[in-house]
Amino acid sequence: YTDIPVSENALEPRRGGPKNLPIAEVLVDDDDCPENSRQKHKPKLVILGSGWGSVAILKTLNPEDYHVTVVSPVNYFLFTPMLPSATVGTLELRSLVEPIRLIVSRAKGHFLKAEAVDVELSEKLLEVAQTNAQGEECHFYLPYDKLVLGVGATTNPHGVKGLENCHFLKDIEDARLIRNKVMQNLEQACMPTTSDEERRRLLSFVVSGGGPTGVEFAAELFDMLNEDLGRSFPKILRNEISVHVIQSRGHILNTYDEALSKFAEARFAHDQVEVLTNSRVKEVQKDKILFSQKDENGETVTKELPMGFCLWSTGVAQTELCKRIANKIEVQTNKHALETDTHLRLNGAPLGSVYAIGDCSTVQNNVADHLVHFLRSMAWEKGKDPEKMEITFPEWRDVAQRVKKRFPQASDHLRRLDKLFEQYDKDQNGTLAFGELHELLLQIDSKLTSLPATAQRAHQQGQYLGRKLNKLAQAAPGMTANEVDYGDLDEAVYKAFEYHHLGSLAYIGNSAVFDFNGLSFSGGLMAVYLWRSVYFAQSVSLRTRILLAMDWSKRALFGRDMMNY
Ligand code: FAD
Repeated sequence: YTDIPVSENALEPRRGGPKNLPIAEVLVDDDDCPENSRQKHKPKLVILGSGWGSVAILKTLNPEDYHVTVVSPVNYFLFTPMLPSATVGTLELRSLVEPIRLIVSRAKGHFLKAEAVDVELSEKLLEVAQTNAQGEECHFYLPYDKLVLGVGATTNPHGVKGLENCHFLKDIEDARLIRNKVMQNLEQACMPTTSDEERRRLLSFVVSGGGPTGVEFAAELFDMLNEDLGRSFPKILRNEISVHVIQSRGHILNTYDEALSKFAEARFAHDQVEVLTNSRVKEVQKDKILFSQKDENGETVTKELPMGFCLWSTGVAQTELCKRIANKIEVQTNKHALETDTHLRLNGAPLGSVYAIGDCSTVQNNVADHLVHFLRSMAWEKGKDPEKMEITFPEWRDVAQRVKKRFPQASDHLRRLDKLFEQYDKDQNGTLAFGELHELLLQIDSKLTSLPATAQRAHQQGQYLGRKLNKLAQAAPGMTANEVDYGDLDEAVYKAFEYHHLGSLAYIGNSAVFDFNGLSFSGGLMAVYLWRSVYFAQSVSLRTRILLAMDWSKRALFGRDMMNY
């Protein structure tokens, strides 16, 4: 029912927009059919990306309410938490992906394997690039009533030179390339023409970044070298191989509870995975890494590490599309992600027309503004000049409670603010001057509003938006955004988004660590089974669950396949 006739009407498509490109239309075959004419008036919902956020929307959306079009350069959903396992053959690549068309068809939508390159916000036109049969890139406009940006993020290069000598781990193709490179190095190391020094270099594996992805990759690599190397590569001695993790902070897994990051470090020390903390990569060359490290006296020294493989896994940055959108909107000042309000609407875009979810976005709660407003009114109530007021800890608590009542979505942040206030005002009997407190609030507001770039967050935001879109469709059935004066319909029909942190977990090589809201847990085999069951349960379909179970059983019985793909 939803059809995009760019190719069918290729001879004479309607053109328009600022670039005078062909405009794709939603076609209705039979105007006499009442069912079709109802569809004609359904709002056009365009969802960008086939990742965690977008899939959560598709799975929550009422299929009948919108003309849904999903645009993504890849036609699968990737289960990223298990991607490190696919780099060494613990799991097969196909077990981690689900064809997106199966998920889109559930929402009775239309899928376009193409890339969004720009958005004309005032005309509600999305510019899409697609490669035609002749291998040429063609651009066209896709009109929307509502647009959801769920395009994720790219790897953050941190301005380091020589990243062309690194591997990345974001997509299924990256995992395949890593697997082949690791195998290629092992094969090369066995050649009679390879010198001892070259052999050690080829077998030196470096991970730059001690976050969950880097740590999990190092753990998977270590498992593979320990469990399968001896059988397939008896000529390679285990002590010729080295695995190094370079981390800029004082600990690996530094967003987890401290006890857990220490447990992970102890585990790596036991497994002879070298962890280089307080170290920053300066340059990656073909055969070595240059990095600076702070020594015990706090002095910085530059060191070299010969390597045959380097994984670059040091956080995320904005995609080109998001940068382009941010450049068009004056209020978008955040360099790392697109800012939305608490209803996940893109700040600065026409109200209720563009939403951003997942890694490409950040929610602005403006908790500091609310608190300052309440503090000011409290001062006036007491007949004091706010700028000269001193605030005690109980007064602060009172203000925080009032803000919480009015903005329940800020409750998580307020709890964290309480903690910070306590730290700042250690004896809790002292006071803070209004100006001082304001300064503190502004400093920490950015920390409070940035939610983690995780699948968990993208999934929750996708589910939230799916539910809200359902409610919006019920509130104004069959009408497009142009036909109805929405006002602030979003606020009228649904609450603001509230993130619930359910915990973090990471695999660290035949053991795992869990951090559930202050409750931390780490351990061996039992923890690994728990880790597996959490992801097994979250896996997107019965098909992928069966494939995962088969891969784990196959590995247990026969080991990993030590060959190139
Ligand atoms: P993504 O899932 O990245 O999806 C973005 C989608 O947008 C992709 O389909 C992409 O092809 C598409 N796209 C990109 N550009 C365009 C464009 N211009 N036009 C149209 N489509 C576009 N999180 C956890 O919570 N737990 C974990 O254990 C965990 N492990 C991870 C391990 C690895 C190796 C990686 C890489 C990430 C991991 N994450 C984990 C993070 C998690 O994967 C991300 O936070 C999550 O994928 C973000 O979801 P998203 O929907 O915002 O974007």
